Amino acid sequence: MIKLFEHLEDIDIHTDHSMAEHTYFRAGGPTEILIEPHTAEAAADVIAICHEQNIPLEIMGRGSNVLVADKGIPGVTLMFGGKMAKSAACGDQLFLEAGVRISEACALAARNSLTGLEFACGIPGSIGGALRMNAGAYDGCFENIVIRTQYVDREGTLGWVEGAEHEYGYRESVFIKNCWTVTQTVLQLKKGDRSEIYPLMAEYARKRRESQPLEEASAGSAFKRPSGYYAGKLISDAGLRGYRLGSCGVSGKHAGFIVNYGKAKASEIMSVFIKVQDEVKDKFGVDLEPEIQFIGDWSGERMVRTGKRP
Ligand SMILES: Cc1cc2nc3c(=O)[nH]c(=O)nc-3n(C[C@H](O)[C@H](O)[C@H](O)COP(=O)(O)OP(=O)(O)OC[C@H]3O[C@@H](n4cnc5c(N)ncnc54)[C@H](O)[C@@H]3O)c2cc1C
Repeated sequence: MIKLFEHLEDIDIHTDHSMAEHTYFRAGGPTEILIEPHTAEAAADVIAICHEQNIPLEIMGRGSNVLVADKGIPGVTLMFGGKMAKSAACGDQLFLEAGVRISEACALAARNSLTGLEFACGIPGSIGGALRMNAGAYDGCFENIVIRTQYVDREGTLGWVEGAEHEYGYRESVFIKNCWTVTQTVLQLKKGDRSEIYPLMAEYARKRRESQPLEEASAGSAFKRPSGYYAGKLISDAGLRGYRLGSCGVSGKHAGFIVNYGKAKASEIMSVFIKVQDEVKDKFGVDLEPEIQFIGDWSGERMVRTGKRP
């Protein structure tokens, strides 16, 4: 393994790294090999080598939308964080590497009097994760502002998609469909007024603080919004608001959030997902689909329905 990577200068490698430290859920086992690329080309090399050598590969950003298995992540985890986080504003566009925090992108937009990214203020995580998930809030989503994105395909080849080629839908994208890795993007914003941008961002941040359990460990909305319903309301109406299972459960503040109150294992958190899904299905006939991604080695564990990835 070490020999394979010795020619790659633009990566940091760690072994047996705890993923609980890198995820907002604060749960899950270690990753066998954690690689942080500094450039898109280095990321492409790692992906190509894993593909050629049949080494399991997982992609991670800032860990705000994943639950890692207790057995950890076998093979390589390619993590886009601070080592690949260059950002720049040019005219009314933002140029962002995958590891840039969404909050940093919002601050950059506001500093440059650019409007259009206010909806994302308060969404944790990286630009790469946001582009894959088409992250959104308050009637806005990345789909509306992304014009061009660089990616690496499963074989390790770099390419670009533009406009409609992103194939965006509600938590859907070409990156999910093809298992492509985002390396950098260009956002198209509009010239605005800082005296309007900052208050709107502050307003969204206040709404989040009031309605979401930001003080607890979670990965955001546990389930996608089912057509015609709100997941949080269904969960609440099923009597599960505040439900506890050991040191995790359903938030009392927002029933759409599953939270880790202490040192819950990933398998216990998974049990809460299963409980919620089963109860809502029993009571209302609605099959909730998890929004959170379950990564790592879940073999032999009970899984929430449709929680397994392709
Ligand atoms: C308190 C809280 C509130 C939240 N509110 C919202 C909200 O309002 N709206 C919303 O949409 N989301 C929300 N989220 C979810 C999350 O913040 C977003 O989905 C975020 O964009 C994920 O980014 P990340 O870097 O943390 O991704 P990770 O959690 O690291 O990864 C998420 C998925 O994206 C993949 N991925 C990560 N980086 C890349 C990359 N560079 N290329 C390809 N795939 C990649 C991973 O493999 C994984 O499948 C919230 C989360 C929390 C904890």
